[in-house]
Amino acid sequence: MSPRYTKLAPSTRPPSRTHGALAALQGWFDTQSPLDSPEDAADRIDWLRAIPFVMLHLACLGVLWVGVSPIALGVAATLYAIRMFALTGFYHRYFSHRTFRTSRAVQFFFALVGAACVQRGPLWWAAHHRHHHRHADTALDPHSPSLTGFLWSHMGWFLTTRAFRTDFSRIPDLRKYPELRWLDRYDTAVPIVLAILLYGLGVLLHHVAPSLGTTGGQMLVWGFFVSTVVLFHATVTINSLAHRFGRRRFDTRDDSRNNVWLALITFGEGWHNNHHFYPGSARQGFRWWEIDLTWYGLQLLAALGLVWDLKPVPAWVDKASR
Ligand SMILES: [Zn+2]
Ligand SMILES: [Zn+2]
Repeated sequence: MSPRYTKLAPSTRPPSRTHGALAALQGWFDTQSPLDSPEDAADRIDWLRAIPFVMLHLACLGVLWVGVSPIALGVAATLYAIRMFALTGFYHRYFSHRTFRTSRAVQFFFALVGAACVQRGPLWWAAHHRHHHRHADTALDPHSPSLTGFLWSHMGWFLTTRAFRTDFSRIPDLRKYPELRWLDRYDTAVPIVLAILLYGLGVLLHHVAPSLGTTGGQMLVWGFFVSTVVLFHATVTINSLAHRFGRRRFDTRDDSRNNVWLALITFGEGWHNNHHFYPGSARQGFRWWEIDLTWYGLQLLAALGLVWDLKPVPAWVDKASR
C-alpha cells in the first residue's frame, strides 16, 4: 500500500482537546485530514464530527416554516428515486460487488449521483460493504443488529471514528481512479452543490411560476433535507431490519432475511438473504415475483448500451434454497 493510503491510521498519542476538535471540524470537508483519535475511542460516536448528520435531521423541522407544495414534494420524491437507484445499482451492485461492467464516464456519473446521497463517497461505501459481507453478523461486522441492537446497527456505527475512515486496502480495484478518490475525500462537495441548486430552483420558480407555490427555502427543505434523511433511513434498514425481519430462503452463515416491504422501499435490496447467499449477481430478486426495481433499471441501462455483462443468477443457486 502506498504511503498516501496509510494517512488515515490513528495516532497512538492522546490528542489535545483543541486539536481533536479542529481535526473533527476539518473532517467535515476533508475526510483525509488526520484522525487524531486514540484507538480505544475509535468505536465511540464522534459527536463533533457527527454534527452535520445531526443538523441534516434537525433541518427537516424547517417544514414547519416553509410549508409544502406539490412541486416540492415531486422534486423530493424524484430525488429519492434517482439517488436510491444510484446507491443500489452503483454504490452497491457495481462498486461493492462488481456485478456488471460499464464505461469510466458512466461509472463517474453514477458515483457523482451516489455522492449526492450524503452517505459518503463510493470508495468508503464499497470498502465498508465488502467488510460487512466478509464478516456479516460476527464481532467484526460493524452493524449486526443481533450483536449490537437496532439503533447501533441502524446508525450508531456510522458515526464512530472507525467508521469515518475509508480502508483503501479493501478496494484495490477502485482506488486507482483519481476522480473517485476525489469524490471520496471531499464527500460533502456534491451534497453542498445539490443543496445550492435546489435553493436556486425554488427561488427561480417563485419568480417565474408563482402559482406553483414554492420558494427557495421550501425546495431546500423538502428536496434536500427531507428527501436525504428519508433516503438515509430507508437505506440503512438493510443493515438493521433486513438482518432481523423476514424469511430465510437460504441457509447463510449470517442472519440476513428476504423482506418484501424493504425490497419495495429500497428498490430491490430487501431480498437480502438472496443477496448474502449469492452476492455476485446484478439481480437480487431471484424469482420473477420478487420485485427488484434496480434490476429493471439496470436492464434498461444495458438495453441503452450504457452498462453490460450483467451477471445473472446461476441455475445452481435455485436448487440450494431450503
Ligand atoms: Zn447484510
Ligand atoms: Zn452486498
